[in-house]
Amino acid sequence: MEKVKTLTRNNNSAGSAHIAKDTPAQFVKGVGPARARMLERLGIKTLEDMLFCFPWRYEDRKDLKKICDLRYGNTETTICEVVSSGIITTPKKRMKIFELTVTDKTGYLKSRWFNQPYLERYFKKGQKVILSGVVKGNPYSMTGAEMENPDYELVGDEDTFIHTSRMVPVYKATEGISPKQVRTIMFNVVNNCSSIIEDYLPAGVLERNSLIPLQKAVKEAHFPEEFTDAAALNQGISPAHRRLAFDEFFLLELGLAVLKKRETIEEGISFEDKGVLVTRFLQVLPFELTAAQKRVIAEIRQDMRRPLPMNRLVHGDVGCGKTVVALASMLIAVENGYQACLMAPTELLAEQHFINIHRMVEASGVNIALVTSGSKGKSGDMAQGTAQIAIGTHALIQEHVKFRKLGLAIIDEQHRFGVVQRADLRRKGSSPDILIMTATPIPRTLALTLYGDLDISIIDELPSGRKPIITKVFFSSQKEKVLSLIKEELSGGRQIYIVYPLIEESEKLDLKSAVEGFEAFKRIFPERKIGLVHGRIPRDEREDVMAKFKAGEIDILVATTVIEVGIDVPNASVMLVVHAERFGLAQLHQLRGRIGRGGHDSHCLLMAYPPFGEEAKRRLKAMESTCDGFRLAEEDLDIRGPGDFFGTRQSGIPDLKIANIVRDIKLLEAARREAFDIIEAGPDLGSYPLLKETLMKKWMGRLELIKS
Ligand code: ADP
Ligand code: MG
Repeated sequence: MEKVKTLTRNNNSAGSAHIAKDTPAQFVKGVGPARARMLERLGIKTLEDMLFCFPWRYEDRKDLKKICDLRYGNTETTICEVVSSGIITTPKKRMKIFELTVTDKTGYLKSRWFNQPYLERYFKKGQKVILSGVVKGNPYSMTGAEMENPDYELVGDEDTFIHTSRMVPVYKATEGISPKQVRTIMFNVVNNCSSIIEDYLPAGVLERNSLIPLQKAVKEAHFPEEFTDAAALNQGISPAHRRLAFDEFFLLELGLAVLKKRETIEEGISFEDKGVLVTRFLQVLPFELTAAQKRVIAEIRQDMRRPLPMNRLVHGDVGCGKTVVALASMLIAVENGYQACLMAPTELLAEQHFINIHRMVEASGVNIALVTSGSKGKSGDMAQGTAQIAIGTHALIQEHVKFRKLGLAIIDEQHRFGVVQRADLRRKGSSPDILIMTATPIPRTLALTLYGDLDISIIDELPSGRKPIITKVFFSSQKEKVLSLIKEELSGGRQIYIVYPLIEESEKLDLKSAVEGFEAFKRIFPERKIGLVHGRIPRDEREDVMAKFKAGEIDILVATTVIEVGIDVPNASVMLVVHAERFGLAQLHQLRGRIGRGGHDSHCLLMAYPPFGEEAKRRLKAMESTCDGFRLAEEDLDIRGPGDFFGTRQSGIPDLKIANIVRDIKLLEAARREAFDIIEAGPDLGSYPLLKETLMKKWMGRLELIKS
């Protein structure tokens, strides 16, 4: 093993006087307009974006191996001398291949590059080079070892090794720009421009948490020092990663702390607890509330009585009965002369809620309006106050929708953070109470930290009399079994859901579409009534089909995932999911939650089409093994990694790129404490102007600081 002098790491800041954080990437050395357009596809617009676009992994290319020691199949790095080179053209496809043969006296190594004939200019006989790549070729053949498209570096006078003989960062490439080109650009950026990075964290925070300076962390995360532990880098736990992860958490929690603080100083509505409407409503309910439902309603009542705005998250697995809890809360607002609204994520679900809730409060004479993008006419009812309860989709937060006196806003089935939607809803009234209902189960410690600005209630009990759901995976070859099970249930008077992943046949992925399935099932069960719903069917028609299914006039409902949440038909006892291998775990659990609501045994049939990957296999197995949403959530976290678990991008809160909520939970807790302490001491961040600026930028204008 031989060691080559490591690169000269001179921080050459000369000529960087006119650069700033928001300098467009185009003007950064080595980029230019064409590459800037490509970088933009990676979400990179400015110099700062570039500096904070970190490699996704690292390759240890420090160990220079002798050719005789190269191991077949490994990624290896070797230093050697050019023996010969030349271009060959393949006879059929006329592809140009540049071939290079090198030696280090212990053996020969042949390398090939495809369609890069210009490489011929670089390599002259006798030139010393470093090559790094996967060792291929038959190790026992006469030709010796081979590499395809290895990274290379000429050993010259300057010895500035970027791609080899060091801990090499590997960046995500994009069309038209190779990982190697990205690396070269990043090397220049890091060396010439990292001086623009200013440390915004208060010194005390750095000290208490043993964090390294930000500038150093950024440099190290791109081009690590020689002796950095490769494993630590790749696991994202090196000191550099630790600092960067801390900052992501800290800026997230700081924003949450501001939101939480605002609630404690804003004046809210103090509802009187008359209990007349609620009592009347509970009396006409055909069932007794579960103990968990009663407890949560009591917690909400207490919040609503207090003169502070309520901000509560109600968490409960599918089918635990959150709608009733929502309705009871809305009735408290209504009998105090206020309006209440319930926002659902889809039109279908809004319609369902509308129908159900309408039925439940009809007798009390409460006025309800449905607000979706297709029903704008109703908005007058809310402005005048004739509608006491509004149920709708995102249409509720549109500009033109006005309430006369909104006292309570509920967001149902909130899979995401929804911090931004919450703020929008809040503006529809004057500090209305906010209630969020979610079935997305997340481990409690994470909930506390991430939904940190909310109080949490948990409905941890299903209504009694629920029969367990039997879940089984079938392969496409076992169609007959599935059909006979469906037939059996149909003759027992039950109804069936059949869910498909797409609406129409897609040429690209050969998926079975709902439309096609609808036709097929009509042929298989000619004597049965079959309905079809998906997102492109007009609302009236959809409503009609759903109503008929609910009334038992339709036996089989073929659908896409529009029915994922909230649909409630107790007589339906079978959920068949076609192409189950393509669904996410949370989605499958949601779908399964549509059945098992009556007193019948229910079956969730997951039809899978091999071949599929390891992850899909684990998902299906998990579904078979448990109905517990919490356990599935943990499994999901384990399978997917926490990266996209929360889907933060859509929600308007800062991204977590380096930080990992599971791996870095301790860091998250520490960041949270620091953030909340700072806001407690001075909510306007007056003593930390740089931190303030960074925070506002991170939250992209969605955060308003509290003036003190
Ligand atoms: P989710 O929490 O998934 O939104 P829903 O509110 O849709 O659940 O309730 C699921 C079903 O359970 C509905 O049919 C509802 O009427 C029924 N339900 C709710 N609470 C109870 C209860 N305490 N006892 C019996 N059935 C209940
Ligand atoms: Mg629900």
